[in-house]
Amino acid sequence: MGAMKYQRTILGGVAMTFVVGVAIATSVPAASLATAGSFEAVQADAVAGSAQSFDSAAEAAGAAVSRDGYVIHTPTPTPTPTPKPVATSQGGYGGGQCQAGADAAAESTAFSWVYPGGYRQSDGFGPRAEGFHKGVDMLNGEGVPVQAIADGIVIAASGDGGTGGVCISLAHKVGGVPVCSMYMHFLDGSLMAGVGDTVAAGQVIGLTGRTGNATTEHTHFELYGADGVRYDPIPFLVEHAG
Ligand SMILES: [Zn+2]
Repeated sequence: MGAMKYQRTILGGVAMTFVVGVAIATSVPAASLATAGSFEAVQADAVAGSAQSFDSAAEAAGAAVSRDGYVIHTPTPTPTPTPKPVATSQGGYGGGQCQAGADAAAESTAFSWVYPGGYRQSDGFGPRAEGFHKGVDMLNGEGVPVQAIADGIVIAASGDGGTGGVCISLAHKVGGVPVCSMYMHFLDGSLMAGVGDTVAAGQVIGLTGRTGNATTEHTHFELYGADGVRYDPIPFLVEHAG
C-alpha cells in the first residue's frame, strides 16, 4: 500500500467527522506507516490539500459515501459493551450449520453495518496475492465494538484462536433465505454472545482486535449461505443496512 492510499484516507477523515478521523488514525499500523512515509508528512499533505477535501457537498454534510476504500455512515449509539463468558464451539462455520441456524431463527427485520460509525477497508473480497480473500477486511481501532449485521442467532463461536482468532458466526433468515455472517480477530475475551444466543441487528457481539492471523486491528467479515460458499458482503450491506 503506497503513500497515496494513506493520504487519500486521511483526507477523507478530515472531510468526515472527528470520530472517524480517530478511528482511522488508530487503525494505521506502525509498520505500514514506515512504508507510507512518516505520519507527520502525511498529515502535512492532508493539511496542504484540505481545500480539495471539501469538494463534495455530500461529504461536507456528512452523508454516507463510499470511495477510495473507506466507507462512512451516520453513526448510531451503541450499548456499553460488557464481555462475558459465552458458549463456544469447535467449528460450525459451514453451510450445514448456516441452514440449521436459519431454520431456527426468526425472519430478520433489522440490519446494521458491522461498524455503523465507519471504518477503513483494506483488502476487499476476491483474489489477492496470498490467495482468494473470502471476506472484507474492515479496519478500526482496538476495542471498537463490532455489531451484528442483522437479527439472528449465534451458530458458532471460538474464543481460543486458530487463524480466525476469536471469532463468531451468526445465522439470519432474510426473505426466508439463510444468510450467515462471520466476524474474525476479536480481542481476547471480548465475545459478548455465545452459541445458541439470539442477537439483534446492531447488537455488540465483540470488540475489534487482531487475534489469529492478523497484522493489524480489524474485522475480517464474511457472508455465506446454506451452500457454505462465501460471497461479497458489501452489496448485501448496502442493500439492507443502507
Ligand atoms: Zn481478511
